[in-house]
Amino acid sequence: MAERSFAKEVESLKLGDGETFHGEGILAVTKALLQSGVAYVGGYQGAPVSHLLDVLVDAEDMMAELGVHLETCTNEASAAAMLGASIGYPLRGAVTWKSVVGTNVAADALSNLASPGVMGGAMIIIGEDYGEGASIIQERSYAFAMKSSIWLLDPRPDLPTIVRMVEKGFELSEGSHAPVMLELRIRACHVTGTFTAKNNRVSAQSGLTPADKPARFDYAKLSHPPSTFLHERLKVDERLPAAQAFAREHKLNEVFDGDLSDIGIIVLGGLYNTVSRALARLGLADNFGNARVPIYCLNLAYPLIPDEVKAFCLGKNHVLIVEEGSPDFIEQAINTELRRADIQTRIHGKGALPKAGEYTGEVMLRGIANFVRDARPAGLDAAAIVAKADALLGHKPAATAAVGDIPPRPPNFCTGCPERPVFAALKLTQRELGPTHISTDIGCHSFATFAPFSMGNSILGYGMSLAAAAAVTPNVKSRPVSVMGDGGFWHNGLITGVASNLFNKNDGVLIVMQNGYTSATGQQYMPSSLASRQGAAPGMSIESALRSFGVKWLRTVRTYSVAKMAATLKEAMRTAEKGLKVIIADGECQLARQRRVRAEDAAKLKAGERVVRTKFGVDDEICTGDHSCIRLSGCPSLTVKPSPDPLRTDPVASVIESCVGCGLCGEVAHAAVLCPSFYRAEVIQNPSAWDRLMHRIRRGVISFLSPREVAV
Ligand code: SF4
Ligand code: SF4
Repeated sequence: MAERSFAKEVESLKLGDGETFHGEGILAVTKALLQSGVAYVGGYQGAPVSHLLDVLVDAEDMMAELGVHLETCTNEASAAAMLGASIGYPLRGAVTWKSVVGTNVAADALSNLASPGVMGGAMIIIGEDYGEGASIIQERSYAFAMKSSIWLLDPRPDLPTIVRMVEKGFELSEGSHAPVMLELRIRACHVTGTFTAKNNRVSAQSGLTPADKPARFDYAKLSHPPSTFLHERLKVDERLPAAQAFAREHKLNEVFDGDLSDIGIIVLGGLYNTVSRALARLGLADNFGNARVPIYCLNLAYPLIPDEVKAFCLGKNHVLIVEEGSPDFIEQAINTELRRADIQTRIHGKGALPKAGEYTGEVMLRGIANFVRDARPAGLDAAAIVAKADALLGHKPAATAAVGDIPPRPPNFCTGCPERPVFAALKLTQRELGPTHISTDIGCHSFATFAPFSMGNSILGYGMSLAAAAAVTPNVKSRPVSVMGDGGFWHNGLITGVASNLFNKNDGVLIVMQNGYTSATGQQYMPSSLASRQGAAPGMSIESALRSFGVKWLRTVRTYSVAKMAATLKEAMRTAEKGLKVIIADGECQLARQRRVRAEDAAKLKAGERVVRTKFGVDDEICTGDHSCIRLSGCPSLTVKPSPDPLRTDPVASVIESCVGCGLCGEVAHAAVLCPSFYRAEVIQNPSAWDRLMHRIRRGVISFLSPREVAV
């Protein structure tokens, strides 16, 4: 089960020599892995590389034919540790996750992998979730690469380049005995294009042809002192020069010439397309990327190749470094290299471009215009370029003024989400018991930090909510409530939070949202799902895990039962019983459920079978228009409309067509003792004879009881 099926696209992974591959960047990466002869792949889902893992799962049968082992890991640390197979065996392997958060989780394994180095190529495909569409803290993975001596590829978003960097990345890893990261920003993941395919390769050692013996014992390959002292020297004295020599020889970085030879731009590969587009809009390039400004494109972001940098800058008066975020690692490194070589090219970077934030098309346009204004290259009217940027960007303030204030549109739970009722219950509980500290976590439930719930005092990472409440509990009178998803629970919450809480005999309340999937990343399966990629349920239960750890106070409550959930919460908050109190809030992810149910209903309708859909509605004549229901729900299907009663000016509540009939409206109205204006209706398709008979009887009764017009 995943948000998107790649079953059709997987066919393109079978293409052979000379055939043309069409598709998305993320699929091209998978094909490149197979062309590189990987023996194992794994990872943990997260934007923007969730689909890479989904593709791998959908391609599992095909990979099995090639002897490729697939592991859907329970977190990024377990994925990183998989690469240990490449330390002592000539096995190529690749793992994937969302960075920088996933890289944080994997940090220990990465350090201990990079220290001894690798024999078989080891590649980490990181989805760099940086910029305006990001869902995480804004940091870059560059620092990780630098500190651990892991080489960082940042390919230009162009399919042949991405595929080449995957293939060359394995050679680079093996040639320099270091792991390699391949960074993909969201646009690189979803860029579409073509490349000429090659045959898939079978690894010499794989599941099809396992080695007769394990690798021989070699203490030097353990990240243990004194080996680690040797490793540190190897990283600097051997692996780094080997990587730089490989990159030079295989031309991993690209130089694009231009006639404005006294200036230049050095850009990280992932940002190349934005630079190219900005140059085109300023009249400094055509729409095919042929630019007047020479460009040095760093498909290998780390390490830099000093000779190439110096050769590019020599003879240029001004060079712009395009590197998002802070610190300006590349700008500093290039300044140092040039000053050491006594090359007096003036380096521009932060200043022309902002110190923080994504370099969007708009930012890049202004940044390049600023650079041209300051550099004043020979043969170019710099003032005209600045005027062009002003004209291109000038319409925005006028458009903003014309449109007026646009209300913010924060993300929200899906219609009918099983997690929304839990926060409605928590809101009702707080009305009675007063406010409490709420320790939130990563996952869909973090939507409760937005209106109408606006709940949450901290988010410290995936599966960290209970641990984040440890020092709050003794310092605040009311019991903190920690909220964790089932994804976060298995990712590390069971150990980081539950085990630590029990070990320290702490107090506290934990709500585990059991929706059955890692929903926020696209409904992938996890240990407590009711099915797995192999079909059968994995057979691990949250309840059993908690009991086996020693949790005594444990309740499982259906999420939509708002009154029961509120009563259970109150009990957990008030009980004199010390220790951890866990409420498993049970309700299947509605998005996943709807995907399943819609397909089932469509099949039933086709077969002429009876299908019943539940809908909720509001009786206009009863609704008082106080909107308590909306304040306690926030469901996108619950909105307002003008009152049909001319004597009442307040709009009434209204349930629109998208309602999935989850029942929360009725539950909230009941639990909060709201007006009785909600009604539940059943929409029956392909009605049975009994349905038709009942319908006729009901219509008859209603018609009999309805007031009749009296002739005067
Ligand atoms: S994906 Fe599922 S769990 Fe997440 S908000 Fe939507 S319905 Fe809720
Ligand atoms: S029943 Fe209410 S809360 Fe549930 S989907 Fe319909 S409008 Fe939304």
